Amino acid sequence: MKSGINSRQRSAQAFAEACQILPGGVNSPVRAFAGVDAGPLFIARASGSKLYDIDGNEYIDYVCSWGPMILGHAHPKVLGAVMEAAGHGTSFGAPTLAETALAQKVVAAFGSIEKVRMINSGTEAVMTAIRLARAFTERDYIVKMVGCYHGHSDSLLVAAGSGPAELSRPSSKGVPQRLAELTIAIPYNDIEAFKAAFEKYKGRIAAVLVEPIAANMGVVPPVDGYLQSLRELCSENGSILVFDEVITGFRVALGGAQQLYGIEADLTCLGKIVGGGLPAAMVGGPAGLMDMLAPLGPVYQAGTLSGNPLATAAANATLEILAGDDCYARLEASGASLQAGLEDAAKSAGIALTINRVGSIMSCFFTDKPVLNFADVQGSNIKIFKKFFAGMLKGGIYLAPSAYEAIFVSLAHSKEDIEKTVNVAHNVFSNIG
Ligand SMILES: *Cc1c(COP(=O)(O)O)cnc(C)c1O
Repeated sequence: MKSGINSRQRSAQAFAEACQILPGGVNSPVRAFAGVDAGPLFIARASGSKLYDIDGNEYIDYVCSWGPMILGHAHPKVLGAVMEAAGHGTSFGAPTLAETALAQKVVAAFGSIEKVRMINSGTEAVMTAIRLARAFTERDYIVKMVGCYHGHSDSLLVAAGSGPAELSRPSSKGVPQRLAELTIAIPYNDIEAFKAAFEKYKGRIAAVLVEPIAANMGVVPPVDGYLQSLRELCSENGSILVFDEVITGFRVALGGAQQLYGIEADLTCLGKIVGGGLPAAMVGGPAGLMDMLAPLGPVYQAGTLSGNPLATAAANATLEILAGDDCYARLEASGASLQAGLEDAAKSAGIALTINRVGSIMSCFFTDKPVLNFADVQGSNIKIFKKFFAGMLKGGIYLAPSAYEAIFVSLAHSKEDIEKTVNVAHNVFSNIG
């Protein structure tokens, strides 16, 4: 590829045009690049680890569609499966053999899952998990951790109250205060705050939601014993523990964070990778809970395109490849070498950098302190992040355009890709430092 990046003139024009008819020019907010004071690239195509914009620039892609593209883009096996399925018709609104085959793969990967319901997005997966938990426990309150993201449904767009005894409030206009009050928001990785919430709302908490490895405030792994404590307190209090593994499922291990840490959730939300790059997601758990869903049980849930043949074909192909021998060892090796390279580059430029990493997901926080929760994340230097982002982009490295997102490494990222990325980082850091 040419060294450096050409003009982004066409993307700029395309964005201006899109802004006329799409709010903010995009169909999901973070795509607008507002967090990095720039405009988005319009993407023409992608292949393996590379992304190509409409100006003809090539980038090494560490966004990977925000996680799904763990095999890299346009993987021939996945494409083949999707084309074959498309040839047979793209949607029937009726059961197919491929859905059962996909469910079997998920049940085999997760010890805590006996049955799954397929839906189209992670947002829906979490919505459904909450409804199931409320129905099962006949309680209304749910607990979420500040900085964890669980999609854009009303109950989860809440911020913690201003004091520890205050009720949560909506974090988005349009969410009723009375609904927000049913969601208790506490800091991530804080076992004491969690115990206090259980004490205060004794016998009234239906579900506790957590990203077992937080990855939507940047990557923030659980501290030792945290997930264990959540598990124990939920069991003691008859609350449903929901692991939102929309990012971590099939990412940090085939069986997600539950396999990695040896802890079982009651309900598991899956998305991103489980759609193989197409829109698909799932909620899963023991039969006793899952059978509460319609048509068997009293909890209503439905979807016109659920279990869609194209998405199911992509998912089956993706999960088959991931079940192969050394995928997670390779992802770990690539992740570790990128982390080491970036740390070394920052160190030689005298820039304070803390990298949190689990396997193939990681985040760069420009701080010399450990980052264990959202307050720590907010304490990192965003100005340096913006310079880092801009410099990397100019050098042909496409990172998430926000300091609160993860770097995703895929199986398509080669040793050369990682080396190039580290070289660009050396230049960028030495210009910042
Ligand atoms: C992306 C994400 C969601 C939302 O999934 P969508 O498919 O975007 O609705 C929910 N939870 C987590 C942890 C996510 O990363």
